[in-house]
Amino acid sequence: GIVGGIASAPAGLHLDAISHAFDGKPILRGVSVTVDRGEVVCLLGPSGCGKTTLLRLAAGLERLQQGRICVGDVVVADAAAGLHWPPERRHVGLMFQDYALFPHLTVQENVCFGIDRSARNNTWVRAALARMELADWARAYPHTLSGGQQQRCALLRALAPQPKVLLLDEPFSGLDVALRAQVRDETAQFLRDTDISTLLVTHDPEEAMVLADRLLVMRDGRVVQEGAPAEIYLQPREPFVVELFGPVNRWAGRVTGKQLATPLGFLAAGGADEGSEAVALIRPEGILLDPDFAQRGATGHRAVVLDRRLIGGLSAVTLATEVGDWRLRALVTGIFLPTPGSYVGITIDPGRVFVFAAAAGEGSH
Ligand code: ATP
Repeated sequence: GIVGGIASAPAGLHLDAISHAFDGKPILRGVSVTVDRGEVVCLLGPSGCGKTTLLRLAAGLERLQQGRICVGDVVVADAAAGLHWPPERRHVGLMFQDYALFPHLTVQENVCFGIDRSARNNTWVRAALARMELADWARAYPHTLSGGQQQRCALLRALAPQPKVLLLDEPFSGLDVALRAQVRDETAQFLRDTDISTLLVTHDPEEAMVLADRLLVMRDGRVVQEGAPAEIYLQPREPFVVELFGPVNRWAGRVTGKQLATPLGFLAAGGADEGSEAVALIRPEGILLDPDFAQRGATGHRAVVLDRRLIGGLSAVTLATEVGDWRLRALVTGIFLPTPGSYVGITIDPGRVFVFAAAAGEGSH
């Protein structure tokens, strides 16, 4: 089938100790990435951290200044040896966020652009257009397609030369929100069905969580953490990694008795040193609310509701603790819209708290 056809001897990608500067300004600082056969690796990081530059270097669109790149066992670029294979020799497919489809070529002509018209290729293209539900659009021009169809057309054009490695730069950012999730999920399924090696860059944590077998978090030209998506989410190694997934609640204070005292009780200080300044980051879903608190006559901490809104299937509630007036954001599954001004019981789920030694210059709460 088409899936077997696309999987042309994938080989994996190895980026080894890559550093890069533009006009003397360091952009990448010793980045190493391995993408195994059939694996989907996502580089996640904020805009400007060097993700696109790394993809351009891997593709051969940019000359390597430091480090080495291998596709499978083949060295395609080596800065020290002055080796630089051109893009077309590297067996690497590249898709940019703007798709860069040729406007004067039809869907089929776009897909066929980088390949010869052998019978084998023609069979591949027909099957691929069908798989991507583009068969009826083969003779259409890109501007007549929906965003999702353009994205699938661009993906097929990248895949048509049957590359060993696929590089995707923000592949869904051109799509509107409703379509993005659908196309993202379809692409994730597609990449799982092939055994091509994929390196995808994104600044969208949800996209990275859905697509990645392995996730690399980048900050200022460095990989700061690497692991399975769930591991990155549940065991972040620095505040930056915690906050990548969205805003969190914070409490800063001094560690006494291996604990941090907050208006909602004590939090375990983890590895932070006794007597040192530490900061606790608490994800919004780690703020647990009890609406029936008052009726049950329960004792414990209370908070007053300041605001609440429904966001999709979640309720976002902002509150202030009764003691200490700590402003908090809670995310609750389902519809929970307590009246502003009313009181709810409030506790912290210790599994959603991350405590770090305070960075220099970060004062107490
Ligand atoms: P984005 O998601 O915004 O594209 P990114 O993480 O992909 O961000 P890069 O596109 O790799 O980041 O850019 C990293 C930095 O390098 C940016 O500050 C950018 O302005 C700079 N840069 C990129 N290409 C060049 C170039 N050809 N000449 C000079 N500076 C460049």
